[in-house]
Amino acid sequence: MTMVTINDTTLRDGEQTAGVAFSPDEKIAIACALSKAGVPEMEIGIPVMGPAELETIRAITALGLPTQMMVWGRMCEKDMAAAALCNADLVNLSIPISDIHIEYKLNRSREWVLQTIRDFVGRAFDLGLDVCVGGEDASRADADFLMRVVDTVQAAGARRFRFADTLGLLDPFSTWSCVKQLRDISDIEIEIHAHNDLGLATANTLAALRAGATHASTTVNGLGERAGNAALEEVVMALRHLYGVEVAIDSHQFPSISRMVELASGQNVAINKSIVGEGVFTHEAGIHVDGLLKNPSNYQGFDPAEVGRQYRTILGKHSGSRAVIDAYAKLGLLLSDIEAEVLLARIRDHAVATKNPPTATDLKRFYLENAHYVAIPS
Ligand SMILES: [Zn+2]
Repeated sequence: MTMVTINDTTLRDGEQTAGVAFSPDEKIAIACALSKAGVPEMEIGIPVMGPAELETIRAITALGLPTQMMVWGRMCEKDMAAAALCNADLVNLSIPISDIHIEYKLNRSREWVLQTIRDFVGRAFDLGLDVCVGGEDASRADADFLMRVVDTVQAAGARRFRFADTLGLLDPFSTWSCVKQLRDISDIEIEIHAHNDLGLATANTLAALRAGATHASTTVNGLGERAGNAALEEVVMALRHLYGVEVAIDSHQFPSISRMVELASGQNVAINKSIVGEGVFTHEAGIHVDGLLKNPSNYQGFDPAEVGRQYRTILGKHSGSRAVIDAYAKLGLLLSDIEAEVLLARIRDHAVATKNPPTATDLKRFYLENAHYVAIPS
């Protein structure tokens, strides 16, 4: 893996999520936040949707941010004409390449697809557009035809081929071999565009990059159609920690960007969502808390400070007495081992009954309730 460029599509595929609609101000704020964090390329919308969307897209490209701006369209006259009005750096012209889409969606032939690519890439150049050909449903395309498509894309002079796993049906092994074949027959940029229907979008993105893909589509929080896309924060952190590859994006800014997209999209981030979920650096289990207190690296794969966060511990059903002693010490109450065991039993009852960790007030109350077992401090 040499160079990897992130192409964040929160503002296009992320917004395509059912029920999501960003306002112009929200789109501009998200674009600015992503650019400030160092995202090198982003897909910002679909110009053919109409004058309002076109205006928002033009407002974003007019900001002059140090980010390559891509717009999305189908490979047809109307979409290409709208794309030409955006002052974008790149247009992704999408065309279905699986037989099922060619036959049942387009009612066309494979030859028609190849000829359309030849025609439109050339005409996009005439309009001053730099072109990425988006292979919709590429993961279900016939393997030989996929090779012919990429060959045609390259011969036509397009800069990039987007390999879209539109329905999220690949696994990392099939992704790797498919992208490897494309890499072996072409020199153009290859972008992996992975969907998360089987929970494999990030894994498939990494596999494609290992096989020679140069670009990766991502979205903040993994937002996107159905189960979403590969998450920006997951791909960036996995590249850093698994492969030592830096993409020059400031990971400290993930929590604020995640929150911004959560609010603008109305799509709540799951508590256990990798990297940005509320609970992913919270520990309760006795063995883990004891290990963390001895040395955080016992139970942290990476330092949460890298993503602007810190680990925390809570008391609950699975706590051990070490955590109880630690929590009471923070309240100025020093417990003996026996006292900690008595209070631990009370904390466990509380956790089961309320499904919540005890507050500081709860802990003081438990202490007083059990004062006949525990020594009252003088
Ligand atoms: Zn998509």
